[in-house]
Amino acid sequence: MNAEILSVGTELLLGNIVNTDARDLAVTLSELGINVFWQTVVGDNRERLTQAVEIARRRADLIVTTGGLGPTCDDLTKQTVCAALGVELYYDRRAEDELRAYFRIGKGGTMTDNNLQQCWLPVGCTPFYNTCGTAPGCGFTAPDGTHVLILPGPPKELNAMMAHGGVDFLRSLSDEHIVSHNIMTFGMGESRIESMLRDEMNALQNPTLAPYAKEGEVRLRVTAKAKSEAEAEAMMAPVVADVQRLLGDKVYGIDTPSLEDTAMRLLLARKETFAAAESCTGGLIAKRITDIPGSSGVFRGGVTVYTNDVKMLLGVKPETLDRYSAVSRETAVELADCVRVRLGATYGLSVTGVAGPDSDGLHPVGTVFVGLSTAEKTYVRALQLGEKSDRSRIRTLSANHAFDMLRRCILGLPVE
Ligand code: ATP
Repeated sequence: MNAEILSVGTELLLGNIVNTDARDLAVTLSELGINVFWQTVVGDNRERLTQAVEIARRRADLIVTTGGLGPTCDDLTKQTVCAALGVELYYDRRAEDELRAYFRIGKGGTMTDNNLQQCWLPVGCTPFYNTCGTAPGCGFTAPDGTHVLILPGPPKELNAMMAHGGVDFLRSLSDEHIVSHNIMTFGMGESRIESMLRDEMNALQNPTLAPYAKEGEVRLRVTAKAKSEAEAEAMMAPVVADVQRLLGDKVYGIDTPSLEDTAMRLLLARKETFAAAESCTGGLIAKRITDIPGSSGVFRGGVTVYTNDVKMLLGVKPETLDRYSAVSRETAVELADCVRVRLGATYGLSVTGVAGPDSDGLHPVGTVFVGLSTAEKTYVRALQLGEKSDRSRIRTLSANHAFDMLRRCILGLPVE
């Protein structure tokens, strides 16, 4: 099935907001085996939206619209799409009940009448009632056979609606099951992985195997199409096992969201903790771990030790800084040891480096030392992350390395 995503909103056209809905939808659709061949952005304008639907229905089997479902007069997606496809609207009583409950009508709340415009839905559709906003979305098949999903613009509402309704609707359109797994790897470049797996990737048709690279990480997606989920799983199992055998401990998880999530689960299982002393990452390690709910069980705390006097406050010796400089293996060791001991953690992580754009006069931009302290031993990774890398990339890669070292240390794998 081929899809077109039709994002409706003048704010998108003017660049006031980024089209994250299209990105999120594209990921979900491709995981369902649906080809996203086109993405179109159109303003809140009836004529141009009609034209966009006319074009989309000719080239796609599925049109997914986002935005323009709210109560105001510029919210015209449902009416316009249905008019273009020859589908009538009906008034959905349950949508009204949901709205009244949302606005606490009868319990002291108030609601303006224009909200009721949201209760009109296409005849014969599967409604998706909104679990975190007001406008319902829906899925239906138009008389010409075009499948349509109409979804709200706010990303939270859109993603909840896809998860609770949209995905099931799309699955019901086909009796084939498409299942995928993501094999998450760190520490090997995309080109190296591609050259190791090229023959396998070229030979495979169902399941398929495809790499996706992102700042030092490579995700390999295995996707199978079959008559049942169990059959798809059975088809993928040998491919997943093969990739794991070839890439060994570079694989940090299957379907796991991130390196930090993997490290956190390992620490939780062992009831262990870590603390971080960060210079050039400026708190990124602390941010990434505390983004995950439940991280208080494993993260004691972090210190941003940006200047030399603050590094000394944590416990780094002045002579270490004088003799080896702030960006050095020795400083990374002392930072990691000090933060582990002073914050009472099982592991101490440290990062010190040159994020650029200027060098510190001693090291090229991209020189980073990442330390990991345990009660028995302190490890350091000396990294050259590229003189042309920007600050953001250097910081992200440094934090990735820190979490990777933590994971490897916990698992008893070589750390440096
Ligand atoms: P509402 O009921 O809030 O009016 P709606 O379905 O009518 O929802 P819009 O009015 O088009 O949606 O957009 C509401 C808000 O949702 C926008 O201001 C923007 O913050 C966000 N939004 C809309 N479309 C997108 C998109 N494609 N990507 C990311 N955010 C979006």
